[in-house]
Amino acid sequence: MLGPSYSLRCVVFHHISDTESPFTRGMSVSITPRKFEAALRFLTRYYTPVCLQDVLTDSDGRGLSPRAVLVTFDDAYASVAEWAAPLCRQFGVPAVFFVNAAFLDNQRLAPDNLVCYVANVLGMETIRSAARAVRGAGAFELQSLSDVFTFFLPAISLAEREVFLDALRQSAGINEIRMAKETGLYLTSKQLFDLASFDFEIGNHTYTHVHCRSLSREEFGREVDRNKANLEAVSGTKVRSFSQPYGSSTDLTRDLAEHLERSGHKAVFLSESVANPRGADPFHLDRVSTRAESDDTFFFELEVLPRFRAVRNRLFHPSTDSQRAIGRRDCIEEIDREQPRA
Ligand SMILES: [Zn+2]
Repeated sequence: MLGPSYSLRCVVFHHISDTESPFTRGMSVSITPRKFEAALRFLTRYYTPVCLQDVLTDSDGRGLSPRAVLVTFDDAYASVAEWAAPLCRQFGVPAVFFVNAAFLDNQRLAPDNLVCYVANVLGMETIRSAARAVRGAGAFELQSLSDVFTFFLPAISLAEREVFLDALRQSAGINEIRMAKETGLYLTSKQLFDLASFDFEIGNHTYTHVHCRSLSREEFGREVDRNKANLEAVSGTKVRSFSQPYGSSTDLTRDLAEHLERSGHKAVFLSESVANPRGADPFHLDRVSTRAESDDTFFFELEVLPRFRAVRNRLFHPSTDSQRAIGRRDCIEEIDREQPRA
């Protein structure tokens, strides 16, 4: 179990900040600059940081350096340009930044940050009241932010999400455009261009950060293709990787995997913190979501827990191995009746 079958390690970070604001408190997305620097020091000491091209070139994992690790960032917080990119350059660590173009230049708030702000400032009753605007009374027992992200948002359509967010803005009296500008949470176009010009990879994270399991084909165009085109126009580089918002393999449906392949994506990343076996499908690369509290906990999160999860999945969710075939045309027929793991 602790043998060499664990191939490429991938880690995902989000927001680098010394303090939590009402927009992020309770979401477990922040790591302090000091801890992030310690994490890079740990990775460069014990691992070999690689870039996306290395992963694509050696997608069967055989040509990768021993203990290869790929560092990624989701959600395009401005803090990645202010803290993460300079530290990655200092330590010589390549990285992939997955971006939602809708929030570039702080034109609006990402739904998660809006929900988080309302929950922290006005309380969960305001969230429950907005949820009732979507599905009526008693449809969801939302006690915490985690309930909203784990049960409510994945269960509603994109149109219903808009009704919910509108109800939130109304009942909280929020001028979202002004608030987004004042907060400056996300990357500007200039920062995105600079990241790309420093040879960092820019990746697709959907246009407005959506759960993909219930998207229609038309919505693939609005969320996946539009985001790719916008990011390529702003960054001046090719977008060839996709990170699943919320990281769940349940959202990586066969339709989505086929769409991603057709639209020129070469790799898809999840964040279920499961070890990637040698020869992992590039359309199903798992990442360890970490806040790297210390070297010991980081080691445990990166090296031990993912192997246990891989063994658990093999024993108790045998369909997971078949799911890894999603995106490979030659295997699609065999998995026709496979259901994504919940
Ligand atoms: Zn995300």
